[in-house]
Amino acid sequence: MRKKKNVLIFGSTGSIGKNTIEVLSNLKDYKISGIAFSSNISEGLKQINKFNIKNVCVFDEVKRSEIKGFLKSVKLFPPRVEGLCEMIDKVEADILMLAISGSVGLIPLFNAIGKIKRICIANKEPVVMAGDIIKVEALNKGSEIIPVDSEPSAVFQILNGFDVSNVKKIYLTASGGPFYNYYGDFSLIKPSQAIKHPRWKMGEKISVDSATLMNKGLELIEIKNMFSVDVSMIDIVIHPQSIIHSAVEFCDGSLMAQMSYPDMKIPIQYSLTWPNRMESVGKKLNIFEISKLEFYRPDFDRFKSLKLAFMCAKKGGVYPTILNASNEVAVEMFLNGMIKFNEIIEVVDKVLSMYCENKNKKVTIEDIIEIDSWAREKTSQIASLIIKERR
Ligand code: NDP
Ligand code: MG
Repeated sequence: MRKKKNVLIFGSTGSIGKNTIEVLSNLKDYKISGIAFSSNISEGLKQINKFNIKNVCVFDEVKRSEIKGFLKSVKLFPPRVEGLCEMIDKVEADILMLAISGSVGLIPLFNAIGKIKRICIANKEPVVMAGDIIKVEALNKGSEIIPVDSEPSAVFQILNGFDVSNVKKIYLTASGGPFYNYYGDFSLIKPSQAIKHPRWKMGEKISVDSATLMNKGLELIEIKNMFSVDVSMIDIVIHPQSIIHSAVEFCDGSLMAQMSYPDMKIPIQYSLTWPNRMESVGKKLNIFEISKLEFYRPDFDRFKSLKLAFMCAKKGGVYPTILNASNEVAVEMFLNGMIKFNEIIEVVDKVLSMYCENKNKKVTIEDIIEIDSWAREKTSQIASLIIKERR
């Protein structure tokens, strides 16, 4: 009998995590060896019982103590990042699905490199912050980094293991989010409106990022880092149908696009089974039902997040970390009703302009962690000033 592949899922109760579990339930050669989540105990318990999961980490300390009494013959790991790292060290895993949200994934990701053979990354924030370093580490230590996010997955599927030497252009597609055709007052947009994406059902943070188009900005940097291409080779394209998940133009004039119904189960499964393809539970595209595919240049003036992301991608160094950290804090403040929708990008812009670059320095992971805290602190300060002025 063939040995099943053990999969460790970080962020099992989230949108990507639940889709991963659905995909795995239909693949016979894989089994879940452990899960980690933050605080959704009822969903976590359902998963533990249904799939007989033996290793669990509950990131939130209070929630962890609440779940303790319900677990029999399950190893409960410590909370926080230490628990995630300990899971990587101690739980048998051939694959890690990194599907937590935000920069908190950075340290566990680093810890997993060299210890787990395949790391499937949905959690784009660490790749934005430290993609270059992650790639080198993975190459040196023999781990495969496979993208899950639909756009990098599209590029990965098109390149199919070939390098980018014959690539002329990467077209990174964007649905435009819920407000692309909204010409009203952005300051009046409420969190409940911003988290409703027209095509994808996702976690709150990425939904707000999709509404500001910062998600596309982060993906620009994610693709630049993951495939080691110059940012001038990437064009963002508004494609409202979300059928083409990205396209690659080669030097001979051939342009290849990856198309599918917008269902994350498809790129999730590919990241797990690559280089093989298997029957999928993802919804299939009926080509006869596509009446049109549209492509537009994005409006950089109404969606300044894109300008900021291009600027940070070009500058490199710690700029993407500042963009990401400041955005993460600003989005949380927006979701908590502290700042307005339009202020998210205003605050990020101000924080970026406060940073004085040290051009000659090679960026280390320690620098990234330090700058991440700096940007978080500055974002809170600037947002507090905005809130004060409004009173
Ligand atoms: P969700 O908010 O739906 O889920 C996040 C998951 O991570 C939940 O299980 C949550 O637990 C858990 N979590 C949060 N913080 C921690 C932590 N510190 N330690 C352990 N677990 C934690 O997010 P999504 O699934 O939408 O997104 C996850 C990542 O994937 C993001 O980086 C996003 O950008 C990326 N992505 C998502 C896509 C999508 O379609 N959703 C598409 C492409 C990329 P709990 O539920 O208990 O709070
Ligand atoms: Mg995406």
